[in-house]
Amino acid sequence: MKRTKVIDALKRTDFGSEITVMGWVRSKRGSKGIFFIALNDGSTIKNVQIVGEDQHFDEETVKLITTGACLKVVGTLVESPASGQASEIQAKEIEVLGECDNTYPLQKKGASWEYLRTVAHMRPRTNTFGAILRIRHNMAMAIHTYFHEHGFYYFHTPLITASDCEGAGNMFQVTTKNLYDLKKDDEGKIDYSDDFFGEQVALTVSGQLEGELGATALGQIYTFGPTFRAENSNTPRHLAEFWMIEPEMAFYDKQDLMDLEEDFIKYCVRWALDNCRDDLEFLNKMVDKTLIERLEGVLKEDFVRLPYTEGIEILQEAIKNGKKFEFPCQWGDDLASEHERYLVEEHFKKPVIMTDYPKEIKAFYMKLNEDGKTMQGTDVLFPQIGEIIGGSVREESYDKLMAEIDRRGMETEKLQWYLDTRRWGSCPHAGFGLGFERLILFVTGMQNIRDVIPFPRTPKNCMF
Ligand code: ATP
Ligand code: MN
Repeated sequence: MKRTKVIDALKRTDFGSEITVMGWVRSKRGSKGIFFIALNDGSTIKNVQIVGEDQHFDEETVKLITTGACLKVVGTLVESPASGQASEIQAKEIEVLGECDNTYPLQKKGASWEYLRTVAHMRPRTNTFGAILRIRHNMAMAIHTYFHEHGFYYFHTPLITASDCEGAGNMFQVTTKNLYDLKKDDEGKIDYSDDFFGEQVALTVSGQLEGELGATALGQIYTFGPTFRAENSNTPRHLAEFWMIEPEMAFYDKQDLMDLEEDFIKYCVRWALDNCRDDLEFLNKMVDKTLIERLEGVLKEDFVRLPYTEGIEILQEAIKNGKKFEFPCQWGDDLASEHERYLVEEHFKKPVIMTDYPKEIKAFYMKLNEDGKTMQGTDVLFPQIGEIIGGSVREESYDKLMAEIDRRGMETEKLQWYLDTRRWGSCPHAGFGLGFERLILFVTGMQNIRDVIPFPRTPKNCMF
């Protein structure tokens, strides 16, 4: 089917030429025997205006041009007398490819986010979700381009795994067994020997452990794939299925790591400003009036680099001065998102890379500092979002890593392959995990993570 995409039609200036466009009716209005259709085909946030005279079309066809209907329009490209658009199309033929009656769930403008989640299969056709999804695509391209240009290899880590990276136990099990009739041993424990993999396996919560195998062979790698966490946290920043980007680099120390985190995020934000202008301007107008300003702000600022211990001091000082938090924040506590946001939005008013966390609140693989109490974590905290990146230098000493694993009472049996990186040719290395949807939240100004992925998976919801 020969057609001009709307994004290209709007750039054309060969007025008088014939043009064919196809798309969905956003709106139709008419007066004095003339009708105007705003047609959108998803190639851009902008619509192309179709102008037709009632007398040239049969009444039945004109009646079928309703909001949501899909049309093929053949017409003449003309200079537009209307302001805000250079060209429009004078329709000669209109074919209704797909009719759309008044049960269409996106008839009315201004539907709530909650309502749109119940029709997530249709919401990509709205202006806002079109903008978000185009930006999402662009961010994926930015990420691949950044790493490719910086000599990182795209490394594919498995989604089904027998190891629990974060040791948090919030994994989705994978089995082909009949759950109503499980084989059990004498002690009543499930016998996995006749299950598909012959052992208990689950969907991965992170590709990091395998990513480290890649980095200690290829030098620097990144993963970019779905991860799964059965955490029953109904927050606007957690999904049960989300996409994570995990670069892992040999011969990186904490300084190198923080520099990469900052440079990488800025690159992605700059990419959005350079390549998603129309969509950002739409979101800036409709969703968040300070969006573009905030994105540009991030590019100008040096991120604050703040040891956890100093962060706690600032929070304690704030409490002394009357600031109220819901959760405690003594030294040793994991910071809640309200604490992170206080530091970023109120105290520093710029992104913060928080470092050197107490070892008790972080994962076993992080490199221990000389003080024996803190670990070389480097999380990036962002305005509106809180934690956007979780990163760390990895413990490269076999003995220290084993000591930490023992101290935590973890099983080493299933981690042998991981420990082999430290057994043979161990090297200093570091890496981080960026939650893709958290990045999209920041770049779009949206408030809820359910609204920046096409089909969100959250507790009690696996629709579409
Ligand atoms: P949080 O404290 O916000 O739950 P985390 O400490 O569990 O985050 P990590 O295990 O360090 O996060 O994962 C790396 C990154 O993945 C986080 O910085 C965040 O951007 C993202 N992330 C983690 N959990 C989720 C989730 N359930 N949904 C979406 N993104 C997530
Ligand atoms: Mn978490």
